[in-house]
Amino acid sequence: EQALRYLRAHIRDVPDFPTPGILFKDITPLLAEPRAFHMTLDLLAYPFIGQHIDAVVAIESRGFLFGGALAARLNASLVPVRKRGKLPGDVDRIAYALEYGEAELEMHKDSIQPGAQVLVVDDVLATGGTASAAAELARRQGGVIGGFAFAVELGALGGRARLSSSDDLKIHTIL
Ligand code: 5GP
Repeated sequence: EQALRYLRAHIRDVPDFPTPGILFKDITPLLAEPRAFHMTLDLLAYPFIGQHIDAVVAIESRGFLFGGALAARLNASLVPVRKRGKLPGDVDRIAYALEYGEAELEMHKDSIQPGAQVLVVDDVLATGGTASAAAELARRQGGVIGGFAFAVELGALGGRARLSSSDDLKIHTIL
């Protein structure tokens, strides 16, 4: 609990960002403090060590910060999911609803082996729309979602229920 309090102190609340009425959880103070970032990565990784994760799917852009380090810790391949038009090769694309409007995510085709165990990683779990879209891209290639990992969960927004509605999945969040 002391460790969590220490980590929580490195998440900054920014009111009215990116739009009025939104209280944004800023993770940059956590990234800036080596001890806090190291602890966060260890806490994110430990439930999945020994579970055999083949691929970490990391979501642009803050998911890359955690996903790359987790893939290295878990000896898994790193598969970036990016916003439309950023990946150079052949892509599969998914559109999903945001609170206001729509967003699109892409994943390189053939980046996940059929049957591969996949861990989906992002910085923040809010409504779960982004993570479930990324998971869907992995499933289309035959990936099996072995879990989700987020540094921060905004519990009131119902993301956990959305991600676990279909499967009995390990949804791991720290703060
Ligand atoms: P969701 O799709 O779960 O509603 O939103 C999650 C996505 O939006 C993640 O990619 C996350 O980076 C971003 N996001 C939403 N709210 C916040 C926030 O308060 N802080 C940060 N750092 N990211 C957020």
